[in-house]
Amino acid sequence: MKIIMLGAPGAGKGTQAKKLASKYNIPHISTGDIFRANIKNGTELGKKAKVYMDQGLLVPDELVVDLVVDRFKKPDCENGYVLDGFPRTIPQAEALDEGLGKNGDAVEYAIDVDVSDEDIIKRMAGRRACLNCGATYHIVNIPPIKEGICDVCGKPLVLREDDKPETVKKRLVVYHEQTQPLIEYYSKKGILKSVDGAKDMDETFHEIVQIIEG
Ligand code: AMP
Repeated sequence: MKIIMLGAPGAGKGTQAKKLASKYNIPHISTGDIFRANIKNGTELGKKAKVYMDQGLLVPDELVVDLVVDRFKKPDCENGYVLDGFPRTIPQAEALDEGLGKNGDAVEYAIDVDVSDEDIIKRMAGRRACLNCGATYHIVNIPPIKEGICDVCGKPLVLREDDKPETVKKRLVVYHEQTQPLIEYYSKKGILKSVDGAKDMDETFHEIVQIIEG
């Protein structure tokens, strides 16, 4: 099962992607997480990516595509995956189609988690992240057990640089310009499904599962 999650930054696609991965026992592949792990480990890729990420810009396509193609080679991808945050541009989507097409393969579902910009700005301001293990929370919707502390690894939670309101506004502009065209791209292929991301997290998940299980 090969699923792509689409949606603006903060629409909740990461949360839904993780739930899908766990339900269907397939890996959750988040390019944002891969970049953040590289930043944490001080790799060359991490250093390059950070310059773009901190400004709310997309990392150039050539730094992203190889990374994802490489990830697909791992044995856990045998039964599919949920892609979260990739593709984010038309050239990335075309590269993905080409890469999969070589093996007679294709993406089965592109799920767009739809939320208004206004709601996103409100949500992101409440988002907190653990820079150590990558877990994310929301001060109102998904609070950690102990305020400001990660449930998973016990490290302090922070408001990520790219979740700050000014950066979020810029990321939304970038999203509308570069990523939103993917909605039409997958719609033309007949695999786009939209769900209402403004609903309660579990209701949105239920909608997605219904789409997949028909
Ligand atoms: P995310 O955690 O998915 O919101 O990603 C955080 C940041 O990583 C984005 O704002 C981009 O700067 C970068 N990024 C993640 N995935 C991609 C991608 N597919 N293409 C370009 N940049 C990306």
